[in-house]
Amino acid sequence: MKIALVGIGKIARDQHVPAIADSPDWELAATCSNHGTVEGIEAHKDFGAMLAARPDIQVISLCLPPVPRFAYAAQAIAAGRHVMLEKPPGATLSECHALEEMARAKGVTLYASWHSRAAAQVQAAKAWLKDKTLRSLNVTWKEDVRRWHPGQDWIFEAGGLGVFDPGINALSIMTEILPDPIHVTGAELDFPENRETPIAARVAFFHPKGAEVTMDMDFLQTGEQIWSMEAVTDQGTLSLHKGGAVLENDGKDVADASGVNLSLKGEYPVLYAHMAELVRAGRSDVDLAPMRHVADAFTLGRRLTVAPFDW
Ligand code: NAP
Repeated sequence: MKIALVGIGKIARDQHVPAIADSPDWELAATCSNHGTVEGIEAHKDFGAMLAARPDIQVISLCLPPVPRFAYAAQAIAAGRHVMLEKPPGATLSECHALEEMARAKGVTLYASWHSRAAAQVQAAKAWLKDKTLRSLNVTWKEDVRRWHPGQDWIFEAGGLGVFDPGINALSIMTEILPDPIHVTGAELDFPENRETPIAARVAFFHPKGAEVTMDMDFLQTGEQIWSMEAVTDQGTLSLHKGGAVLENDGKDVADASGVNLSLKGEYPVLYAHMAELVRAGRSDVDLAPMRHVADAFTLGRRLTVAPFDW
């Protein structure tokens, strides 16, 4: 199937282009971006003109930051194209619900992808937790924004989510592996005095069986980068590290125990294989649970002002 990538920036180059190139399902037929291009691939700047010029491209993958994404997604769906969305699927829950409805009415596929759910050990963690009684789940998501998002000012502008941009990846794993639904009961959000989104946050959740569920996020982590969660249960402790790539059971490494297709190395090949399945089956996959928790944390969160942030 022919696919076009929109928003040729960091994630498009690092992950989408190689995943598409390695996939038997996809041919990268065009790109659309104001500045970015992919060598050897037809490049457009005007999205409407690209849609009109290339009716043979039936699938559009949007790698833009969340705020501009809705307008592109709505235009693609209106033109009868299937759409794959980077995470988070939009800037607000309402615009994502609107896209779902547009895609349903037009009979096209909409896929809100969550790359961290495709990390190698996430399904193994889910399977292990299924029949355990959870006592606590503590999530630590601490990375250096200067290293992973250099110069990306949109992250600190309204709608950019700040530290919840990586934090929503943890939420996408939590909402996948926990057998019971959780919801936010409180949060503290640290806003740099010169920015519009939080640079650190602590969130607490209600768990229906009384487990303590917490999340601690920091965008100013230097040294070791931590994307981990530890689940203590009645039958032992499970930890996920490196964003879901590594699983430990009571301190012991568990290798390749996941149920995911291990012939697909890496998260993005799994996402693109899933998109191909969805298009072929005429289905959509839009789970907004991770985003709902972020919205709730912003609604309930106590705002604290911290030191200004500059790159
Ligand atoms: P990015 O490099 O800053 O942006 C991607 C591209 O989008 C930019 O190069 C720019 O291309 C275009 N763009 C930026 N702002 C725009 C605007 N207001 N209107 C239209 N186009 C705009 O960001 P990224 O790191 O690739 O992240 C994009 C999305 O992927 C985010 O939702 C992020 O959460 C997600 N993601 C990122 C990572 C990561 O490690 N960076 C990992 C997983 C997921 P042109 O200037 O050429 O138009």
